[in-house]
Amino acid sequence: MDKHLLIVEDDELVQSLLAAYMRNEGFKVSLAGNGKEMLACIDSESIDLILLDLGLPDEDGLVLARQVRARSSLPIIVLTARKEQKDRLAALEIGADDYLTKPFDPEELVLRVRNMLGRTDTGTAEAALRERTEVFRFEGWTLDSGGHSLIDGKGKKVSLTRAEFNLLAALVKAPNRVLSRDYLLDAVSQDADAPTDRLIDVLVSRVRKKIENDPKTPEIITTVVGCGYKFSAQLK
Ligand code: CA
Repeated sequence: MDKHLLIVEDDELVQSLLAAYMRNEGFKVSLAGNGKEMLACIDSESIDLILLDLGLPDEDGLVLARQVRARSSLPIIVLTARKEQKDRLAALEIGADDYLTKPFDPEELVLRVRNMLGRTDTGTAEAALRERTEVFRFEGWTLDSGGHSLIDGKGKKVSLTRAEFNLLAALVKAPNRVLSRDYLLDAVSQDADAPTDRLIDVLVSRVRKKIENDPKTPEIITTVVGCGYKFSAQLK
């Protein structure tokens, strides 16, 4: 089955170029020129990933991303001409999985899309198998690094954005070791241009809200003042 992308972009030239490029790469593509069309498309089609422009005529892309995130973990890559760091942080804070600043290299976009869709076809079967067997259990949680899922004690899947997942996976794989923000930045993002230390703090706080009994007094991901963060739970 071809993966189905939804391109949300009001600039018709960019929209059609991007659509042609992604179709040529083997994706099924649907198009929306504004927020209303985007929401209608998500409801009527089975979409695997959204490419979202922030500057849309009827609604700010950040607001739309938040609406999508409120009801699903559908991956979102924000494509933005906004170079302000606060806009990029805002996009990640509300749950976008990644972003690219315009103008971007379409080849890089394809790589990120494939990466996010978790395609194993770029890796060897052996590597895929090895990844699949990496399962971590702690405090009633099960983190499956191959399946990219976090399961609670009742067997219910908890949705994490890709960045949140990568952060938690990096911490779990190094229990009781202090990981610096720099190290964690490398683990969560391939975007050398973008992140700041604050991104890690934002992601940690989002993950804590999902997994800690009391996010204000965290016991699983603890803060090591002046150094970074540490996975402090017992792995079973
Ligand atoms: Ca636009």
